[in-house]
Amino acid sequence: MLTQLWVGTYHGSHDGTRVVVTTTRDDEQPLLYGLECTCGLSQRYAAPVSLDRAAWRHTHPTFWDRWRQKLTALRHAFRLHPEQEPTR
Ligand SMILES: [Zn+2]
Repeated sequence: MLTQLWVGTYHGSHDGTRVVVTTTRDDEQPLLYGLECTCGLSQRYAAPVSLDRAAWRHTHPTFWDRWRQKLTALRHAFRLHPEQEPTR
């Protein structure tokens, strides 16, 4: 059964790697529009405009996007040791 009615591709790079994002529309999903990157990222959106923006942004990260990623990585590196994290 054909449920994917619409497909787009975005070529770009992030983290120094060339990647391709594939976007699809799937009427059987609660969020119709999905994107999948060759890096393994997979997200879904309700509106095509959000999807387009996310796909473009993911394949063409800005200077500030790269900085934010670096800061996030640093925060992970300086995280408390696992035994000091709260337990449930
Ligand atoms: Zn990616």
